Amino acid sequence: MSRHPLQSIVSLAKRRGFIYPGSDLYGGFANTYSFGPYGAQLKKNIKDLWWRHFVEERTDIVGLDGPILLHPRVWQASGHVDGFSDALVDCKQCKSRFRADHLLEAAGKFNADTLPLQEMDQAILDLAVECPHCKKREWTLCRHFNLMFTTQMSKVSNTEGSLAYLRPETAQAIFIDFKNILDTMRVKLPFGIAQIGKAFRNEITPGNFIFRVIEFEQMEIEYFIDGAQWEKNFEVWLESMHTWCRWIGLRPSCVHEKEHPKEQLSHYSKRTVDLVYDFPFGTSELYGLAYRSDYDLRQHEIYSHQALTYTDPETKAKYLPHVIEPTFGVERTLLALLCDAFDEESLADGSTRSVLRFLPRIAPVKAAVFPLMKKEPLTARAQEIFSTLRSHFVCEYDASGAIGKRYRRQDELGTPYCITIDFDTLQDGTVTVRDRDTMEQIRLADHKILSWLQTHLSR
Ligand code: ATP
Repeated sequence: MSRHPLQSIVSLAKRRGFIYPGSDLYGGFANTYSFGPYGAQLKKNIKDLWWRHFVEERTDIVGLDGPILLHPRVWQASGHVDGFSDALVDCKQCKSRFRADHLLEAAGKFNADTLPLQEMDQAILDLAVECPHCKKREWTLCRHFNLMFTTQMSKVSNTEGSLAYLRPETAQAIFIDFKNILDTMRVKLPFGIAQIGKAFRNEITPGNFIFRVIEFEQMEIEYFIDGAQWEKNFEVWLESMHTWCRWIGLRPSCVHEKEHPKEQLSHYSKRTVDLVYDFPFGTSELYGLAYRSDYDLRQHEIYSHQALTYTDPETKAKYLPHVIEPTFGVERTLLALLCDAFDEESLADGSTRSVLRFLPRIAPVKAAVFPLMKKEPLTARAQEIFSTLRSHFVCEYDASGAIGKRYRRQDELGTPYCITIDFDTLQDGTVTVRDRDTMEQIRLADHKILSWLQTHLSR
């Protein structure tokens, strides 16, 4: 379990410009968030690293950027119109709304989400489930609630009416472009299509900060394989997902695998393993890995009346590829990174230091440059060094306030190194470089700073 309460992370995130409540000016808008300057940079780093790791550095995966609004029949074919729903139940007393399976599981009923509605109603009675808010036991009947947001379009097609859905996952945009990719790219099985993009879910009980929100980003890969090879590919992908977690700096002891029992598998999945993370509020899903069989391509063949078969270039055998899907949430990655990196340290002078111990590759700001005082010629020299460094990586210049406060501010942003230009710099051309984690300072010749940082930031 994470060593610090979520509240410490939430308040640092707001105080330091990582994450603000959505529509703050208007009193907030439930379960929406704005990513401030450092949060936006951190998100960008996550997405850039993911794209580099899974697309640019591999020869078997190509990228895609599909639309959020897809033809409504896509969601009929995928099963989302009929099946993408949770059972909800309301407390008659305080009007709070809950996911029935979450209430039942908290009361000890295993696999509650597989129960038909009537059995859920009965189980709520049998287990004397209390409302977590007002402790009363007066419930409405359970009913299904589709998680897809709908919107109206002025023009979809003559036959379909004007209803459209905001996509609840990026995956379907990939499946419906599978044929375009086959026809235009020199891809050969096994190969993957990767996409990063927004998804929307009208969650019944969002919460735990940005863990469960209604608008979020997914980084997904649909990896197309010969169905006979699925088990081997599944294991390889599981390992690749662990490698990614280590690479971005999540401590391995906080990342675990959770196999979905057969009865709990989604309608499309033959095997699913979640990578769960020890968040401060409990161990919960970070990422998912699913074997989707040929379900999606088969459904889209039926609904679009178009063949989506693959022809093996050597044997000329024609078949529908099967799919392994590793899926990664951007917000959950960001939250796990914040929880993992956050630390509070008691210092010898009795004060407490908050610090985000991000790996340099993840840190939103790589280095900060300070003149010891806001005085010429210190500021001019500091500006010179700053402008050299900022053309290579994200850097900050800060000349205001006591130097100790400036260090503390950068510690809370997770900036790995701070460079201070002082009076010795003017004499001997050396600067101090302060390490965020050890707080140790070394002196370096100013012309060596760039190469020193390049080496140390690539760790
Ligand atoms: P959960 O069981 O937590 O609702 P899920 O199994 O429905 O999640 P998937 O459909 O597998 O989630 O979505 C893929 C990934 O998208 C998840 O592993 C997670 O990282 C992210 N994700 C899903 N729903 C949300 C949400 N409401 N808010 C933020 N991220 C989400």
